[in-house]
Amino acid sequence: FAINMDQLQLGEELGNGAYGTVKRVIHRPTKATMAMKEIRLELDDTKLNAIIMELDILHRAVHDSIVEFYGAFFIESCVYYCMEYMDAGSLDKLYGAGVPEPVLGRIVSFMVKGLKFLKDEMQIIHRDVKPTNVLLNKKGDVKLCDFGVSGQLEKSLAKTNIGCQSYMAPERIKGESQNALSTYTVSSDVWSVGLATLEIALGKYPYPPETYLNVFAQLSAIVHGDPPELPDTYSEHARDWVNRCLVKRPEGRASYAELMNHPFLQEDARRNVDIGEWVTYALQWREEQKQQRRSRQQEEQLHPS
Ligand code: ATP
Ligand code: MG
Repeated sequence: FAINMDQLQLGEELGNGAYGTVKRVIHRPTKATMAMKEIRLELDDTKLNAIIMELDILHRAVHDSIVEFYGAFFIESCVYYCMEYMDAGSLDKLYGAGVPEPVLGRIVSFMVKGLKFLKDEMQIIHRDVKPTNVLLNKKGDVKLCDFGVSGQLEKSLAKTNIGCQSYMAPERIKGESQNALSTYTVSSDVWSVGLATLEIALGKYPYPPETYLNVFAQLSAIVHGDPPELPDTYSEHARDWVNRCLVKRPEGRASYAELMNHPFLQEDARRNVDIGEWVTYALQWREEQKQQRRSRQQEEQLHPS
């Protein structure tokens, strides 16, 4: 069946990205809760139709580590994309609670399994691996979203958004600045996995804005500097695993098979880890953070200094 707007009851906003808004919706015919992403594009109907057709292959991307796709449609110049609602949201809003090494191991193991499935079974390279595109739910599932399946959509999304946090591999940054042919391969995603892993562990983006005065300095550090590392509070295996992702030459980086067979993820496979329990804790932490911010604001309104 095809989803359309008339069947959807709009709920609250779940978040905002560079290209649009994500809302919680209820699909009335099935009573299913979904997340609907709105992407504003100035395109003619032929191109919008092409995007909807290309997105259709997402129906085959069924895997434990991949957010389920329900359907897409367009109205005027907006593409609407309906997917599985993940009730704990994205990892960037949770990792501040602190991520113990076993939890880190399990999260990245889910990520690598999802990426390996996309590559091996669907010939898809993700192209946008980062903590905001890793979604969790209270059951303890960890799933990837927002991977590149539509050439037309990728082309249409303004490239103006380099953002202040780049997860692009060095060869991609160089490629873009030299305007060379796309040098994007699966190993560019492996770099992004390494950087995301580091960010999840550290609780912040590994090239801190305090150190790099502008985006150019930051990109230059990625291309010319030594890759960042996990601190020695983490195990040798965890540190080595991240090092195998953050190799500057793409040919030198680990494959997904190597990452799965690495002692860090082999240990994870033998351990019992309850991600649901960690998610509950992290959501509680986030709620407390919100409360504290609210009472600070009230305090400032009562006693402006
Ligand atoms: P960017 O625009 O750079 O890709 P982003 O990934 O944060 O950044 P969006 O993909 O538009 O931007 O998502 C916005 C936010 O909406 C996410 O950060 C996430 O918190 C939330 N979100 C997205 N998809 C879902 C979903 N399926 N379930 C629950 N929350 C979601
Ligand atoms: Mg996203």
